Amino acid sequence: MQVSALAQIASERPAAAPTSLAGQGRAALLARLTELGVPAREQRMRVAQLWHWIYHRGATDFAAMTTIGKEMRAALAQSFSLGRPHIVCEHISSDGTRKWLLRMAPKGPGDKGAEIETVYIPEVDRGTLCVSSQVGCTLTCSFCHTGTQRLVRNLEAAEIVGQLLVARDQLGDWPGAGRLGDAALPDAPRLISNIVFMGMGEPLYNFEAVKDAVETLADGEGLSLSRRRITLSTSGVVPMIPRTGTEIGTMLAISLHAVRDELRNELVPLNKKYPIKMLLDACRAFPGLSNARRITFEYVMLKNINDSNADARELVRLLRGIPAKINLIPFNPWPGTRYECSDWDRIEAFSEIVFNAGYASPIRTPRGRDILAACGQLKSETEKLRARARLMLESGIGAEGMFASSE
Ligand code: SAH
Ligand code: SF4
Repeated sequence: MQVSALAQIASERPAAAPTSLAGQGRAALLARLTELGVPAREQRMRVAQLWHWIYHRGATDFAAMTTIGKEMRAALAQSFSLGRPHIVCEHISSDGTRKWLLRMAPKGPGDKGAEIETVYIPEVDRGTLCVSSQVGCTLTCSFCHTGTQRLVRNLEAAEIVGQLLVARDQLGDWPGAGRLGDAALPDAPRLISNIVFMGMGEPLYNFEAVKDAVETLADGEGLSLSRRRITLSTSGVVPMIPRTGTEIGTMLAISLHAVRDELRNELVPLNKKYPIKMLLDACRAFPGLSNARRITFEYVMLKNINDSNADARELVRLLRGIPAKINLIPFNPWPGTRYECSDWDRIEAFSEIVFNAGYASPIRTPRGRDILAACGQLKSETEKLRARARLMLESGIGAEGMFASSE
């Protein structure tokens, strides 16, 4: 190939995407302004202005930032973007649950962009966004689909916050934006009132980014989600639990799932490192724990594995003395799993014992079952569909209609 042809191809190649300011925290924004050469005396004011437009108004274009002078807006637009993670596909369940497969901006040459999932669960009086903290997971819980995928990388704080920005864009959940007219949406001032770190990944293995992201999510001048409405779910990374209380200050959920070490070793292999007693001692000592600020214990209902009456009685015995809520989660099966969800009357009998011990409404209603809403399932399902679509293309069959995609 001739040199001129190579030069031609190079010039046609899209330039690397500019850094997005959407999702960045105050310190990161300050650093970006320094890079841009904004004088030190102006920087605080500029950060405050950007903050307002990005996190209070949901601006997706610098041109909309009318309180910032034209020249400054142009300079910002030349160096940065307000891009969000790219929506690869959206699934809407018949119960109103929405699930997005999101592709992050590529991190360098050869990176096609990591993919993660985010789920929105509307209820009557609240809307919960379930966010991912890592791409994949290093842990290998045997009932979890994410556990079968390797860890690709940690998400950055901006990529965690970006999931909320995308969801608010899609739902029209910004002041003055046209809200989606969907009967399944909550009748509440905000469509997204709660955040749970229950998507892909173990948030306590990405502590600093999760901490930074929570700072931005909870900041009173922007997204303003109270830390009491943000829940971090962990499979039990005991050494990080005290710092979660003192430095992050959100609500805590523990994926317990078994009451005996032998079984928990199998379901949540991290238990071999941090067994049940050690985990519950860390919970008892959790900073800020009170009856008004309880720890949620998650317990996935697996048929004939952990769902006997004896298991239920042992569960309430183990938790005695810890201000706790118990969330019974019907197992959401995925292709190839060796587990089944407990029968409904078994779940009811189990929950009756838990209820009689003083824990209210403990069964989490399965949501979005028709769109595979459990942890890690959308991503692999889409990968499979894509592989199938490629095969069909290769054999000359049209792939349209295989899956809804914004591409
Ligand atoms: N890694 C963290 C947070 C992400 S998983 C943790 O393990 O806590 C969020 C919750 O979903 C956890 O309680 C997890 O055990 C549960 N979960 C994973 N796969 C599931 C499935 N197939 N059905 C029901 N719950 C599942
Ligand atoms: Fe990772 Fe949580 Fe799934 Fe376990 S349950 S593999 S910790 S995402």
